[in-house]
Amino acid sequence: MLYFIETILPLAVTKNFTYQVSQAEFDYIEVGMRVAVPFGKTKIYTALVLKKHNTPPQLYQAKEIHQILDEKPVVNSLQILHWKWIANYYMCSLGEVYKSALPTGYIIESETLISLTSALDLDLTKLKDDEYLVVEALKIQSTLKISEIVNILGKKSVFSVINNLISKGIISLQEEIKEQYKPKQTRFIQLNPDFDNPQKLAELLETLSRAKKQSELVLGYFQLQATYKKPITVKMLLEKANSSSAIVKTLIDKDIFIDYYINEDRVVFKKKENSLFELSASQQIAFESIKTNFHNFDVTLLHGVTASGKTEVYIKLIEEYIEQEKQVLFLLPEIALTTQLVQRLTDYFGNQVAVFHSKYTNNERVEVWNQLLENSEKAKIVIGVRSALFLPFSNLGLIVVDEEHEQTFKQQDPAPRYHARDAAIVLANQHKAKVLLGSATPSLESYYNCESNKYGLVELKERYGKVVLPEISLVDLKDKYFRKKMTGHFSDDLLKEITETLYKGEQVIIFQNRRGFSPYVECITCGHVPHCPSCDVSLTYYKFKNQLRCHYCGYSIANPTHCHSCQSVELSTKGFGTEQIEMELKSLFPSYNIGRMDQDTTRGKQGYEKIIAAFKNQEIDVLVGTQMLAKGLHFDKVTLVGILNADNLLNQPNFRAYERAFQMIIQVSGRAGRKDIPGKVIVQTYNPLHNTLQQVLLNDYSAMYKEQIYERNNFKYPPYFRLIKITVKHKDFEKLKEGSLWLYNVLHQNLKMPVLGPEEPAISKIRNEYIRTILIKIPTKEHLGNTKQKIQKILMSFEAVSQYRAIRTKVNVDYY
Ligand code: ADP
Ligand code: ZN
Ligand code: ZN
Repeated sequence: MLYFIETILPLAVTKNFTYQVSQAEFDYIEVGMRVAVPFGKTKIYTALVLKKHNTPPQLYQAKEIHQILDEKPVVNSLQILHWKWIANYYMCSLGEVYKSALPTGYIIESETLISLTSALDLDLTKLKDDEYLVVEALKIQSTLKISEIVNILGKKSVFSVINNLISKGIISLQEEIKEQYKPKQTRFIQLNPDFDNPQKLAELLETLSRAKKQSELVLGYFQLQATYKKPITVKMLLEKANSSSAIVKTLIDKDIFIDYYINEDRVVFKKKENSLFELSASQQIAFESIKTNFHNFDVTLLHGVTASGKTEVYIKLIEEYIEQEKQVLFLLPEIALTTQLVQRLTDYFGNQVAVFHSKYTNNERVEVWNQLLENSEKAKIVIGVRSALFLPFSNLGLIVVDEEHEQTFKQQDPAPRYHARDAAIVLANQHKAKVLLGSATPSLESYYNCESNKYGLVELKERYGKVVLPEISLVDLKDKYFRKKMTGHFSDDLLKEITETLYKGEQVIIFQNRRGFSPYVECITCGHVPHCPSCDVSLTYYKFKNQLRCHYCGYSIANPTHCHSCQSVELSTKGFGTEQIEMELKSLFPSYNIGRMDQDTTRGKQGYEKIIAAFKNQEIDVLVGTQMLAKGLHFDKVTLVGILNADNLLNQPNFRAYERAFQMIIQVSGRAGRKDIPGKVIVQTYNPLHNTLQQVLLNDYSAMYKEQIYERNNFKYPPYFRLIKITVKHKDFEKLKEGSLWLYNVLHQNLKMPVLGPEEPAISKIRNEYIRTILIKIPTKEHLGNTKQKIQKILMSFEAVSQYRAIRTKVNVDYY
């Protein structure tokens, strides 16, 4: 009998690959384990086992695997089921889902680079032959691909050699030199059991009598042991005996002491005393009606105004699920939000909370992954951004999707281009779990699903503690400029409010949805605007660095002193970004601290935390920021929010522009007024009569919803139509034009629904590639699966046309 395994590889190829294994391997292997496999002539990949069987593949001769990488499955069957849904729905390969689901350290490939860790004076004599060869080779050539190591060792099963070298700390994977998985360990020490009787011990002390430091350490150990009665760390011993690690080493070398290591979980949370609270009367009603809704609906939307205490309601609900021994997933749109939430949840639930997001190191992510595999007590509640959906949950009871309207829940690139809220609903279904969506400004889609009785709806209309909603007012910029009431970008009204607020010792948030100093530089003489050479965008001016920079590819040049087109020295900056506003505020309010929060100031793992903490501690009086500020953060002393230019929110070329502008302004406004101080919001605009702004003024979600949903129906957009956007890219403009037209024509002829394009998008060239898009609008009455199959077929025939083969296509289902 022959033995085979069917596997997925981390590739954008839609089929599975079958490999041959021995009977012993077959018996050992389980679905969900990883195996190293050959691919093509020279490549090696980490494959995931999907199935075991005895039928040889028909079309090719199955190769043998190199080796088995796991002792137990690292992926469970529910995950695979969910990944299959994602691949199918979002039209990508299962391999792409697999690749983005696993922490990077779990997928080693032949292209993965290996290098020696720095500062190494190795005792090479202790290495095994294979290990020695690899180290020697790395001394000559600083990096090696896994495939090259295969050649050096003359054998295929190199992963164990590599893994050994990694765990000895001798080599590391290049992509993640700082991040390879190494559990954080604590070093403990104990006396060699040989000395564990009084006589032996006396002899020992006798022999050490002339080595004073050493005997002191041994005595110190005994004192500690007598009082502490728990395993003793090397660190404790050193402090107690006031000794040095050299002495410890001597005693270990003499076999008097033995040291050993225990894994320590990296992230340890402590429960806070007095973290208990009671729900307010209206929160209690909301809480009860969510539970009632869950009898009839798997998904319920909690529509609660800003600061209504949605988090408190979530906490009480989560508590009930973990009391039933269920797992809970809490999804957030943005890493910036996790800090505050993690704090609140860990205060309440202590070490049962695990956190998972991309700013965590690979080690930390692998640790959370493993905790979930073991169904550990430490990962009863997982807080994470969208990728947390891929973790090995086995027993989910509840998924909370907070700020469910946020567009960051939709992954743009690379595939899978999934929407985390929608994928969460499917995941919950597979676990027979419930989903609670929460927002002060729900997405039209979710609200529509409530209206059409697919989701339950619960409303929370008052702020906690009866704090009043902020008072919003509009300032007409046209009028202010005309009457010369503007100082820089600030109207007299806004300046007056800022001055008063600061005077009272309260804080201000200023919202400007653009970063940098100004969006572009223009020559006053000839009108020339410096553009990025590889992208179809103007360069953004950064005053502090005196640079022009491209936000799409990172290209930068020193700020030009004269026009590159006409040599004129009269250059002016146009528009304004957060950097400029920060500088204006600094000169208007020199005795106050002005801070800035945008993508440029929040790089690095602690980037957000530092700014948020400084603002919270009132080290910053006025915080200027982009939409990052709009997201559910809480600052008790903020009583004024200024929005400098609402029009650049309204004038976005996207069918969701008004919905988003409404959400954004209401959310930023929600930062104003907490506890007993009411908040004020000033919105500057050239269009004070704009419907959306009027709806904001009255905080009238339902008017916004009615108007927008009507438009969506009229213009064939979600939730009435599903959108699939196809993007095609190529370096050759003419070829792309021709190819995209071919694709459009075939789609148009074969699909009985609106197909738009091929359109040149607002930014039609990025990194030297031209871009065209085609938009397909699928009416809800059409069968979605069939339509997708048709599209898939057409894309395949497009790829088969030889002159278009080099054109890259990208499919975005439910394009946002
Ligand atoms: P939302 O998420 O709806 O914007 P939060 O849950 O953050 O609102 O609550 C706003 C503020 O009110 C927070 O500071 C929170 O601690 C406080 N709060 C809300 N509900 C309660 C409660 N039941 N007991 C004590 N404090 C509460
Ligand atoms: Zn010029
Ligand atoms: Zn560029």
